[in-house]
Amino acid sequence: MKPLAEIVWQRLTGLMPGELKKAELPWLATPFQHLSLLANRRATMIVNRVRLFAFLFAVLTPMWIVVDFLVFASPLWWQLALMRVLASAAFASLVLFYQPRGNLLDAYRAMALLFLIPTLFYVASYNLMGAHELAGLSAAVSSGYAFLPFVLLAGLAIFPLTLIENLILASPILIAQIVVAGLRWPHLDLPAFIGTFWLLVLITGVSALAGMSQLAFMIALVRQATRDPLTGVFSRSSGEEMLELQFILASRSGAPLAVAFVDLDHFKSINDHYGHEAGDKVLIAMTRNIQACLRRGDMLTRWGGEEFLLIMPNTDLEQAVQALARLREHGLGARPEGAPVTASIGVAERLGDALDDWRMLVELADHRMYYAKQHGRNQVCAALPDGQDPLVKAA
Ligand code: GH3
Ligand code: MG
Ligand code: MG
Repeated sequence: MKPLAEIVWQRLTGLMPGELKKAELPWLATPFQHLSLLANRRATMIVNRVRLFAFLFAVLTPMWIVVDFLVFASPLWWQLALMRVLASAAFASLVLFYQPRGNLLDAYRAMALLFLIPTLFYVASYNLMGAHELAGLSAAVSSGYAFLPFVLLAGLAIFPLTLIENLILASPILIAQIVVAGLRWPHLDLPAFIGTFWLLVLITGVSALAGMSQLAFMIALVRQATRDPLTGVFSRSSGEEMLELQFILASRSGAPLAVAFVDLDHFKSINDHYGHEAGDKVLIAMTRNIQACLRRGDMLTRWGGEEFLLIMPNTDLEQAVQALARLREHGLGARPEGAPVTASIGVAERLGDALDDWRMLVELADHRMYYAKQHGRNQVCAALPDGQDPLVKAA
């Protein structure tokens, strides 16, 4: 009998055939394992949507002042109008001063602000109206104010969020509901409140599902846009983007960052003797072998035809050389005639080589790879003999 977990798993993946790979599914639950490229694009998208939402609210919130003026008596309408103007100004400043920077914490702050403004407005206005005896049309309009939490929770659906992010964002709104109910306690219609609250919980669930399916779509798109179609490793353009980002992060925290430039030896002869397809198979097998040896956080990118760049964050030169020795021991695969696939590899490291630009890191690794090539192939070069490394600054 199949274990229950497996049955549930098959059911779930059957609902979204081919969209996500098994390793990507946990990404729907929490953001902690997201690749930097995904986090980056998601942060930008979230801030852009916050600004769109804030713009709509900045325009729509003050419009309702007309209705308040027609329906409510003097102190109430202008108190509400004042609150609307303040809320609208807060939304407008979110649009004006918040620019997407690709940083997730920044995106969270933008969302928190977006939700905080109407939540405060809602609690304050509800309180204000609770203090007035309203009847007829004004009572009907005042009950319209209670729709705000529904709008907010439904609005969550426009963001590509993980399950946990959805829950963290929705909970203050749900808690605010309970606080408001508590404030009105002696007059509270309990069954009506429970009904409303249940509806809010349902809307939260639907919004979370909508947000997560957006995220799933985004994960699949980012994968397609960032992977090399033949081998499935990162494409050069995404490799450059990741390396640039890793370089900034490493410079900020003073951490080492190593790269290895890998060029297969005599690869052309495989194509020449056994055909292009045989060459493709060797490339695919080689990337599988490298990936089997990688640490979590290491990134393999296809830099050109049979040239690969391995990005190793938090790795100094010595550790990188050790990792490459392990890789060579594991093997890169076999050539069609049975001989082992070999590569010439150049390694460079940000701190050890005192480089302050990611392009120089790649250039130096490439230069050392060339040296390995010139000196017999099938070897790793981590430093040239004294004075021959062109990019290393004099100490
Ligand atoms: P060296 O040891 O000096 O690196 O020799 P090499 O033959 O590996 O180097 P060279 O740069 O002369 O040849 C690289 C070859 O890789 C040429 C090109 O046809 C082949 N190649 C590039 N991309 C692909 C690909 O996607 N599939 C296949 N099958 N071959 C490719
Ligand atoms: Mg080459
Ligand atoms: Mg080659």
